[in-house]
Parts: sequence; C-alpha cells; structure tokens
Amino acid sequence: MKFACYQYPDGEPVTPEEFDARRRREPMGKSVQAYCKECSCIVFSVNAVNPGPGKLSFFRHQTPGSGIEPPACSQRRDERMQGLHPDSWDKERGKRLRTDFFKDENLGAAFCFCRNMSGNEALPVDVFKLLIQRADRRRIWEYADLPAWAVPYILLVLDDFKTTGKTGKAYGFYFKLAKPDRTSASALWLRPGECALEKRFLSNDNLMTSSRHPNPLDVSQERYRLVAGDTSWLERYPPLSPASIRQRCNG
Ligand SMILES: [Zn+2]
Repeated sequence: MKFACYQYPDGEPVTPEEFDARRRREPMGKSVQAYCKECSCIVFSVNAVNPGPGKLSFFRHQTPGSGIEPPACSQRRDERMQGLHPDSWDKERGKRLRTDFFKDENLGAAFCFCRNMSGNEALPVDVFKLLIQRADRRRIWEYADLPAWAVPYILLVLDDFKTTGKTGKAYGFYFKLAKPDRTSASALWLRPGECALEKRFLSNDNLMTSSRHPNPLDVSQERYRLVAGDTSWLERYPPLSPASIRQRCNG
C-alpha cells in the first residue's frame, strides 16, 4: 500500500519515503513504527531508500508473530496481489473467458480445485462466490492471454480462509502465488516452472505441511486437473451441482 499512519494507528498518513525521512530526523526515530490504516497492524516500508530501476516503494504488513491471529485486512490481501497485474487488457476475450468459466464442466472443475486446496469446510459456495466477486472487481477475466486453468489459482489468492484443526481449534490460512521478481501475472503461464501456489498459516506465515496436495503446488494445467479430480459427484449432490453453484455465484 502507498500510505501508512506515522507513529500511531491513527497517525498522519505518510508515504514510504516520507516515513523513512521523518524517522531519521527524530532522536528516537528508530522506535517509530508505521501502521496500516485499516487494521492498525505494524507495516514496513519497502524500497523507500535507493530503489532499483522499476521498483516502486510501498508498505507491507509485518509477519505476524507468536500465534497472534491478524485481523482480516484488505490491504494485506492487496499485497498478495502485487505482481499479479496484467501486461494488458482484453475486454472481448474477458467476456468469453467468464462465460466459459460458468459452463458446467469448467465451473465444476474450478470449484473442486479450490475446495480440494482449501478443504471443504473453508470453501462453502458463499466463499467461492466472494472470490468470483473479487475477481470481477479486479477484472481478472480481462487479463490478456490468461488461460482458463490459471483463473482458479488466482481466485484462491483473493481471500483469507478459516477452518478447524484436528484439535478442534479454528485457524486461518491463505494462498500466495510465488513468482520471479518483477514479473506480472503472465509469468504464471509463460514461466510456470518458476511459479508455485503456497498455502500458509495466517498466524505466522509458515507453509502448512499437512496438506493433501503438494505445498507449494506447481502451476500447470495438468496439476490443475489432478487437484480438481473427478467432479461427477457434484451432480449427485444437488446443492453443489454446477447449475446450483452458477445460480448462486453468477449474480
Ligand atoms: Zn492492514
């Protein structure tokens, strides 16, 4: 994010450059922190001093420590979307991609992929709907050349998830697409071997190790199909039939 609050969660909004310059001028400057204006978490300035060519300065959230669950924060999710911008937009193709996405077979595979990655409990249809709404808001369908199989990889990045562990304790997790530095979303299909989908605990950012599928997960059409698996069971369970999912999610 571009602005954070200086010294206090309700402090003056400053840019990363202003933040670094200002705390250098203060006697106790090193102890001054910047805060996210949405969730009041501490954030760090990145690239504020001597950024390389083409590098933008921004604030990022700190890695949360000692099992403290950070609040859901849209700014934090935006950070995960960094590097997932398109090279260009293709509005006409985007319309077709979205229409195809909602066809029975494709919708069923996308839903099963997301659900198998997150676990059943974490992905009721309403959460899937929210992911699609966020994709609509970001016009992800219109990313030029975006292949259909890559859409669900991006959908998973658009929210935090909650589930219950074996001990009965609820915990949060999220997905992040790891990619080469300074690439756009097109790296997912142009350099898929250098990309991976990571599933991480929200509380400490660690990779989750007890996943059903490889973690990190490779980014490819083959892996997408493998994780989605057999989707024919959806038709036998009316609340999750593709027609029912479409009715609820394509608002
Ligand atoms: Zn925040």
